Amino acid sequence: MGEAERGEAAPRQPVTYFCANEHRSVVTFSIEAQVPDTWDCPKCGLPASLDSENPPPAPKIEPYKTHLAYVKERRSDKEAADILDEALALLRSRRKSGDIIF
Ligand SMILES: [Zn+2]
Repeated sequence: MGEAERGEAAPRQPVTYFCANEHRSVVTFSIEAQVPDTWDCPKCGLPASLDSENPPPAPKIEPYKTHLAYVKERRSDKEAADILDEALALLRSRRKSGDIIF
């Protein structure tokens, strides 16, 4: 503690982290600091690792997207059903009125 304030002379090392979105983030650590294996990507918040070939997957995002897609799908299904009902009702009423007229 307190060392950081006068840490200008402390040697530093840039460490590059890679996330699943192919972001490359350089984080500078003191040369004495233990470099963590993973780091949250500053650009998208996903976990990033030191291995550019194997960035950690994004487990937190996927279920949310899947749920959202599920809700969207259900909604559009319901909308489609409503539109179909409306179209059928319109068709029936037209046909009915047609029967009455002719
Ligand atoms: Zn990222």
